[in-house]
Amino acid sequence: MRRLFFVAIGTILVAALVSAGARENNDQDIYWQIRHESISNSQILRTMHMLTDVYGPRLTGSPNLKAAAEWAITQMQTWGLKNGHLEPWDFGHPGWRNERLSAHIVSPVQDHLVTEALAWTPGTNGPVRAPAVQITLPPRPTLQELTAHLEPFKSTIAGRIVLVGTPQHVLVTFNPPPLRRDDSDLLAQFDAARAGPPPGGPPQAQQPAPREGALRANQVDEQVNQFLLASGALLRVNDAGRDHGQIRAFSNRTYDTTKALPTVVMRNEDYGRISRLLADGRAVELEFDIVNRTYPEGRTNYNAIAEIPGSDRADEVLMLGAHLDSWHAATGATDNGIGCAVMMEAARILTALGVKPRRTIRVALWSGEEQGLLGSQAYVREHFGTFEQPKAEFAKLAGYFNIDAGTGRARGMTVFGPARAAAILREATAPFRDLGLLGATTTRSRQLGGSDHTSFNEAGLPGIGIQQDPIQYNSYTWHTNLDTYERIVEDDVVKSAIVIAGAVYSLSMGDESLPRFSKDEMPPRSQTQTSQGSTSTTR
Ligand SMILES: [Zn+2]
Repeated sequence: MRRLFFVAIGTILVAALVSAGARENNDQDIYWQIRHESISNSQILRTMHMLTDVYGPRLTGSPNLKAAAEWAITQMQTWGLKNGHLEPWDFGHPGWRNERLSAHIVSPVQDHLVTEALAWTPGTNGPVRAPAVQITLPPRPTLQELTAHLEPFKSTIAGRIVLVGTPQHVLVTFNPPPLRRDDSDLLAQFDAARAGPPPGGPPQAQQPAPREGALRANQVDEQVNQFLLASGALLRVNDAGRDHGQIRAFSNRTYDTTKALPTVVMRNEDYGRISRLLADGRAVELEFDIVNRTYPEGRTNYNAIAEIPGSDRADEVLMLGAHLDSWHAATGATDNGIGCAVMMEAARILTALGVKPRRTIRVALWSGEEQGLLGSQAYVREHFGTFEQPKAEFAKLAGYFNIDAGTGRARGMTVFGPARAAAILREATAPFRDLGLLGATTTRSRQLGGSDHTSFNEAGLPGIGIQQDPIQYNSYTWHTNLDTYERIVEDDVVKSAIVIAGAVYSLSMGDESLPRFSKDEMPPRSQTQTSQGSTSTTR
């Protein structure tokens, strides 16, 4: 009896070991196939050509963005993904697109000027030629201080093109920022042996305490716009304030073209030149011709969704995604066409290999990220609810991978959850360590901001943020007029797609789901929510 019992137990153990060994061997085989498929048949650059050259820029609410989303769904379905569809959410503002912009200095010298239109501002309705004047702005004023400061300018700006603010002095960069992250820094952050879970999110830069009664930057902008409109100015010019002709053009945050003048952001070099000419006492005349259009149908925006159906755990969903919307000054390559192309590619690789995941793998391409993570928040609200007020699908999300920091290769992952969640990600990515992904760590932060994974973290769901090599992201391409196809490093993004496909595959197959915080461990929801239009805090 006892002997038989031990034989039986032994047989089960051997069977389990053979089965675990078989899965391991099978996984190793799949991992090599993933590498082979990605390297020999990458579609990333073709996807990038479509998302940037054909459909860019992809501003939220614009026809370009919707067309890009429709193309992405068709493309993913052609690759074999299922259930492709657009999920609408209410943006509440019209779409906007700049179609034409010419800018010139016509006196006392003749030259063209490098500018970008500010989104959700009107066009000029034909060429506008007028003298330029410059007004100053007080630092962090209260409403009363700003009103008193602007009053003396009132009589000088009617019928003029107004440069708002003195030019920023942008110093020559003697020490360019590094293109890659140092391995030892990454290991300190992501390696199991060394990395301790941080107390909250990544350390926040110390913000100066707000001055009592001081207006926020967007409130100052709104007040200045009202003043310029009421005073009969013709056009507003802002200083881009960056080197080498970089321009970051965001938006009129009222999203209402009747509440702003035609407005451009001018490269610092041209803004400086005009300012110095005006300071000489010379009369400067400028000419602009701007065609902007609005699209009422943009009030409804769409997230693009497609999936690889699961098998025995099909109701559990592992998500991977990136935001498809971009700013409008360039074609949105590194922010974040490439994130979409990499996530689409990871799903394409798995589909091409014919893997049969246990859990459903779902790709989501978000919209409205740049206006405050709006598309992903709408999706989380609609499907999952929050830890405090969960919907039925809340318990079924196996994790959400997000990528949104340019062309640099994936180097580490940060998951919202307990230490074991990071350990599972480390195991899932260990076979790809040679490609540069050195580990995973955890966060307890439910603060919205950064990118779309924080919409999941904020709800108490296992969002996974992917850290990447910087390449030229923060220094040149992020939100600038230089964010084009040419800035993609193919070797890096092919490697990111391999690592992500491998990690997604591993998590879709494992017996153990990513663990979550228990009721006692769950951090409270953040008090400070990202407000709409907080472009400074979203990637
Ligand atoms: Zn982004």
